[in-house]
Amino acid sequence: MAYILVSSCLLGNPVRYDASHKRSHHDTLQRWVAAGKVIAVCPELAGGLPVPRPAAEIAQAAGGKAVWLRTAHVIDNHGEDVTPAFISGAEAALRLAQKFHIRIAILKEGSPSCGSSHIYDGSFRGNKIAGQGVTTTLLREAGMQVFSEDKIDEAAALLLQLEQP
Ligand code: SF4
Repeated sequence: MAYILVSSCLLGNPVRYDASHKRSHHDTLQRWVAAGKVIAVCPELAGGLPVPRPAAEIAQAAGGKAVWLRTAHVIDNHGEDVTPAFISGAEAALRLAQKFHIRIAILKEGSPSCGSSHIYDGSFRGNKIAGQGVTTTLLREAGMQVFSEDKIDEAAALLLQLEQP
């Protein structure tokens, strides 16, 4: 069976910085959950951060790639550098994906860990920029296909292809 890695908050788990969730009611995701195909991950918890926790953004409008190149940091809204937790959480997510031979992930859009098309610019003013989070960057560099919760149909089409004998 092909497994899919999914952001824990999209499954209704209250793991976001403010202890909320972002449950997705997408039919296909529900079907995957019922079929036991979903492996949940919250990289920020896996990296040792608590719930609740201060909101964090990648500073200076940089993206996940710059964090891995050590030219950008993830900073929370108290001014703490939480880069090490984001890196270790991303590495844990990758290990989990590799353990289950996962090729496809559905990760929460906009997050400094999980964002796949956009993130926030580090100003904590709600400014969106094109870019991807720290975990998404690592998973993509490892060859995984990462989709947001808005692109579950595309992910399902790819999964069908991968499952062809
Ligand atoms: Fe959701 Fe990812 Fe943020 Fe965890 S790190 S709360 S899974 S968006």
